Amino acid sequence: MSRPDEVFRVRVTKDHLVFAAAHFITIGSDFCERIHGHNWRVAVEVTGPLDENDYVFDFIALRDAAQQIVNELDHHVLLPDAHPQLTLHHSEREIEVRYADRRWVFPREECYVLPFRQTTAELIARWFAQRLYALTKDAGADQLHTLQVDIEENFGQWASCTLPIETLRNK
Ligand SMILES: [Zn+2]
Repeated sequence: MSRPDEVFRVRVTKDHLVFAAAHFITIGSDFCERIHGHNWRVAVEVTGPLDENDYVFDFIALRDAAQQIVNELDHHVLLPDAHPQLTLHHSEREIEVRYADRRWVFPREECYVLPFRQTTAELIARWFAQRLYALTKDAGADQLHTLQVDIEENFGQWASCTLPIETLRNK
């Protein structure tokens, strides 16, 4: 068992925790990137006390949950649902996206619509952490202190979001 002043950390990153996906973001009020893709790499880190088996959290459960989310996102166009200037029009088979005088049309099943403003690595990391918590809650994630997700957008360029379990639990 751990003492109260000790911090234990478990980190999982694997070669297959990568999703290939397209996106574009806006910068300021009048610039919108061209659509492009990344191989987004994911690392997951949790902190917490040691349990009765003297570990923080089951590595395998953490890896499998992260892999499930990675697989959902892989080979999709990532679109934000709450952007003030990008509008999404859903029809039966397609999603049409508009920004100023620009327009993109995607087959619906090739899109992954995310419930936030921008598909930046930062906001993807936060959403990923929330999904990860939902998937690992029953495996004991409530005992943890923090859950962190790091997303690498370009080689050596990581964004990270750390959420206290208390925040996740009260959402
Ligand atoms: Zn990008």
